[in-house]
Amino acid sequence: MTVCKPLGPFSFLALVSLALTTASLRAQSVPQAVFGYGDFSKQARIEERFLAVPDARLAGKHLKILTAEPHLAATPEDRKTADYVARKFRAAGLETEIVPYRVLLSRPQVVKVEAFNASGQLLMSGRTKEHVDGDPYQDDPRVVMPYNSSSGSGDVTGEVVYGNYCRLEDFNQLEALHIGLKGKIVLCRYGANFRGIKVYIAELRGAIGVLIYSDPLDDGYSKGEAYPLGPWRPATAVQRGSVQNLSRYSGDPETPGFASTLDLPDSARIPNEKTGNQPRIISIPLSYRDAAPILQNLKGPAAPQDWQGGLHFRYHLGPEGVQVHLVSLEDNQRRIIWDVIGRIKGAQVPDEWVICGNHRDAWVYGAVDPSSGTAAMLEAVHGFGVLLKQGWRPKRTMIFASWDAEEEGLVGSTEWVEQHAKTLERAVAYFNMDVGVSGPDFSAAAVPSLKQFVREVTRSVESPTGYTVFQQWRISQAGENDRRTANAPPGPGEEVHVGDLGSGSDFTPFFQHVGVPSTDIGSGGPYGVYHSVFDNFAWYTQNADPHFVYLQEMARVFGLEALRMADSDVLPYDYVAYAREISAYIEAAKRKAESANLDALDFGPAEHAAAKLAAAAEGVHGMQMAVKMTPLGDCARLNLALRQTESALMSDSGLPNRPWYRHTIFAPGEFTGYAAVVIPGVNEAIDARDRSRAAQQLAVLAQALERAARILNQAR
Ligand SMILES: [Zn+2]
Repeated sequence: MTVCKPLGPFSFLALVSLALTTASLRAQSVPQAVFGYGDFSKQARIEERFLAVPDARLAGKHLKILTAEPHLAATPEDRKTADYVARKFRAAGLETEIVPYRVLLSRPQVVKVEAFNASGQLLMSGRTKEHVDGDPYQDDPRVVMPYNSSSGSGDVTGEVVYGNYCRLEDFNQLEALHIGLKGKIVLCRYGANFRGIKVYIAELRGAIGVLIYSDPLDDGYSKGEAYPLGPWRPATAVQRGSVQNLSRYSGDPETPGFASTLDLPDSARIPNEKTGNQPRIISIPLSYRDAAPILQNLKGPAAPQDWQGGLHFRYHLGPEGVQVHLVSLEDNQRRIIWDVIGRIKGAQVPDEWVICGNHRDAWVYGAVDPSSGTAAMLEAVHGFGVLLKQGWRPKRTMIFASWDAEEEGLVGSTEWVEQHAKTLERAVAYFNMDVGVSGPDFSAAAVPSLKQFVREVTRSVESPTGYTVFQQWRISQAGENDRRTANAPPGPGEEVHVGDLGSGSDFTPFFQHVGVPSTDIGSGGPYGVYHSVFDNFAWYTQNADPHFVYLQEMARVFGLEALRMADSDVLPYDYVAYAREISAYIEAAKRKAESANLDALDFGPAEHAAAKLAAAAEGVHGMQMAVKMTPLGDCARLNLALRQTESALMSDSGLPNRPWYRHTIFAPGEFTGYAAVVIPGVNEAIDARDRSRAAQQLAVLAQALERAARILNQAR
């Protein structure tokens, strides 16, 4: 096989100047030159035909059907949504299968909280039923009682300590104030980190139970009108959610690293289901109506000013003043879940896969999370169905996945990835969408090699405002942060900021376990009903997207990511940007090590290897830009090297104490969960002031970067 033949220097410059002209004269959304394509003109017509199909009205119809009943994973109603998605996939011409797994899931039997003041008077006995006036969905008997899945079971009584967001630094501050947690119950507020991490640290510090409540300052009346008057969290609404320790591994707790297929014998599963990624202590979620009497009666030191929430009294830290009694009984049973997988076989390189996924299970109705994503994905699939009928076939195989049991710990996606880990070395991208739409503000997170790719895709899609999605994204970027994507303002030299991939959705097994380059997109807005009964069709049409035009927008962006990647001549990975980010991470870690007095650490080999990767990337970037109008086969060697570069960043032994996480550049932080930690082995060793681990992890990093540089150079 020959390498892609570069154009001569004259043609190369012509192509670059064409690209520049296109960028500066942009008024229309059809680009003329696109990174990854020798000649984009034919593809531009295919994209145009695709973009014409996704339909707002149909997307709204999917959403209404998907959210008609509560559809928690492994329930009959969940199965109905799987059948609906499979029917739509088949109607579009996708080769479709429903893939079952048998996985450990916990369901609540008893969830009870009682609080007493110092003289033994009952302050509250909960939980209060989720209720607002006029919501048509709230009284369905199938609504699961609010609970934290993966919570420990038991019956405990103890004094309460208020722990703010229950971040590592909050626990450290309590310790500095000599407020011990041994035998105590910690009252945490939602926000700032993944709830499973709150419980993980509380357990490490000796607490016997955790209550996690939604403070009005974070997503309630302090933000604006509460539902049903507006989009924010009403007094009784509870955020359900898993408290699995996602930073250890995702998926079925009993089968880390292998798949929970139906034929997997019980003897092959980890016998004690409460090891691995499950907490032992009890955790219960609360509304602020139920948390308020506890907080209000706490004595002890006044909470620091930035720990004060939105309730109208002074918060105190405890532990005096309140005793709570918690009962949590969860059945842990192996239950059947259903992923839906649809394929469009590639015409030229069927063994290379472009995978698009969204989860389908919801805590209750899940209009925003995740059904808006599913509705948008179905309209993207509708678009490919129309193209297929017109005789089009993608160059690479496209796979669409509707994951189950994401809410319990990314279970459906993780088991599928673990089952196909070997083949996924050939997957060229995984595109995730979880919350498709909760409002008009587009945001994205991605591996650095695909950040520019996402920006370019959004330049080609019009938003309902008449601007392109890209322009709208720029305008909105000063606004609210999205839960997962850290939608920060643009950094120096960035037109719009694309976040880093931490965890909290189905890209985690693809990206951090097997090294498939990934992105995660969504469209956000004021959204206070996350994981409550009120995340339903009535809330959605009132607050998020009454005419479903943002579902249509997300169908187009999501579909265009897949289409542009699947048909590209040369894979549009930008390793120049990736290498630049890695060098910056190493420099930042070096400064942190110096200020932590770990200055004898030798960063030289890692810096040197990062420089080699940068040089290799420059060379290969030139080849990618100059790709000639040749059949795809001619780019095979270049594409293989480009793809294997990401795999080279994986380490066989994985991260210290969490070998399931194998990416040397990105992981969910051990103490953050949603947020990414960059060069995690090195940074977490420095944070722990562990010099020998830091030195060893620097060596692992240097080796990975050397490997990546060597492989990238093979393209030349
Ligand atoms: Zn979700």
